[in-house]
Amino acid sequence: MKSVIFIGAGISGLSAAFYYRKKHPGQSITILEKNEFPGGNFSSSVIDGFTFESGPRGVMRNGHAFFHLLNESNGWHLLKPGRKTSSTRFIWYRNQLNQLGGNPFKTLFSPAMKGVIRAVLRERNLKNSCSEPDESLESFFRRRFGNQITDVLLDAFVSGVYAGDISRLSVRSSFPSLWEAERNHGSVIRGLRAGKEQAKAKRQAELTDFPHPETGKSRFYSTHGGIQQLAHHLAGFFRNELKTGAEVVSLQKEDRWKVTLASGEVLLADEVVLSTPASVTARILSETDPELAAQLMKIPYVPVAAVNLGYRLDPGHQAGFGFLIPKIEKKQILGIIFNSGTFDGVAPDGHVNYTVMIGGAGRPETAGLSREDLLETAKTAMKEFLGIDLQPVVSTVRVWPDAIPQYEVGHYRIVEDILRSGSAHQGLHLLGNWKNGIGVNDCIKSSFYWVKSLPE
Ligand SMILES: Cc1cc2nc3c(=O)[nH]c(=O)nc-3n(C[C@H](O)[C@H](O)[C@H](O)COP(=O)(O)OP(=O)(O)OC[C@H]3O[C@@H](n4cnc5c(N)ncnc54)[C@H](O)[C@@H]3O)c2cc1C
Repeated sequence: MKSVIFIGAGISGLSAAFYYRKKHPGQSITILEKNEFPGGNFSSSVIDGFTFESGPRGVMRNGHAFFHLLNESNGWHLLKPGRKTSSTRFIWYRNQLNQLGGNPFKTLFSPAMKGVIRAVLRERNLKNSCSEPDESLESFFRRRFGNQITDVLLDAFVSGVYAGDISRLSVRSSFPSLWEAERNHGSVIRGLRAGKEQAKAKRQAELTDFPHPETGKSRFYSTHGGIQQLAHHLAGFFRNELKTGAEVVSLQKEDRWKVTLASGEVLLADEVVLSTPASVTARILSETDPELAAQLMKIPYVPVAAVNLGYRLDPGHQAGFGFLIPKIEKKQILGIIFNSGTFDGVAPDGHVNYTVMIGGAGRPETAGLSREDLLETAKTAMKEFLGIDLQPVVSTVRVWPDAIPQYEVGHYRIVEDILRSGSAHQGLHLLGNWKNGIGVNDCIKSSFYWVKSLPE
């Protein structure tokens, strides 16, 4: 019987262990997790009737991997569809909330959308291709869609997903479907239209579409009790095999892999699967392969702070998912999420639930700010943007010093180098959100395909 140790019980590690167990039921699995509970970035808390998220709050319907995992793990009872209004989003631009989604008239006539239709129509016939092997998001979007889409829509969207800088992030790695659409069809719009049918066929063949009654209800989903319940659900398949409070400090290859914990305990395994953040993976492997460690250290991360605020307030205040702010507006925060507008039941009756996101590439100092400073920044933002000048009845502050890996220009080459170096070590497997996408769906998908690629 082969023994496999999974290091890190975030969604990448848990879903990898889950799919691995399904494929190889007879093999011995151990999962080692530094924290006292599984989930990694998943960080849900229920306080005085508020369900707060300090990490991810859900997934988009079109990702499918989340549904696949629920289906395979008998987890449909956990699925929580977002409210209808969750597809209405906003951008703060020119001193007002600009609606995107929901009402088409409000969307089309918002200042943020000025010239957007013309730019999209024009893109189909542009002949200004780029011959470089990679390009920044900013350069790609300016070339294809012009300044308004780049500075307002793209920049705000990238704040929400990567908390990143569009002049540094790679289009090839951050939005591979856009990059490929232009390469293969000479136009992003034409390429995306052509790719839609192919993508659907691929999904059906591999991660399969899910005509479950719940999956048509919304475009955004989480799990009841907060997204961390998904981690607990998966951890339930590994009751005695998941060891929490178990920080791995090094890995050495002798006859077998020797896994050393901070406590001094040593475990042996035939195979090891690392799904820790890139810098941690680097530290763990630094003695075994300094070059591989140096390659992993090339992936930068940015900090993000999530300040959750619960107010006694008429929930009529909240319709929609929330808003993001493009850099050109020069504001202190990334945006505000309307949690009671996104999901039912996340605040007691007569109360509302918000999250103010602070930090990102433009504000690296966020990681060093105190809880009090962050709370003050969040309350000031609530007043400035939403006119809410009240004391919250509950608040939480969580800082993620290394929140999100940045797929900067040339990221694809760093990943190729890491995977090449890693493959020289038999029985070493490298997973995590630094590799094939940072979304929860991306992490699950990446783990699924890793297991699929293993021999029977
Ligand atoms: C604030 C925030 C909001 C986000 N919002 C969304 C969202 O709404 N939707 C979405 O799709 N994505 C979102 N994301 C991204 C997504 O949550 C992450 O990319 C994903 O959860 C990462 O999962 P992972 O398992 O790869 O890594 P992690 O979650 O980082 O897991 C790594 C695990 O390894 C453990 N570990 C670390 N060091 C050691 C060690 N030495 N020994 C043992 N274990 C160790 C950690 O404790 C952790 O449990 C968000 C991320 C953040 C930070």
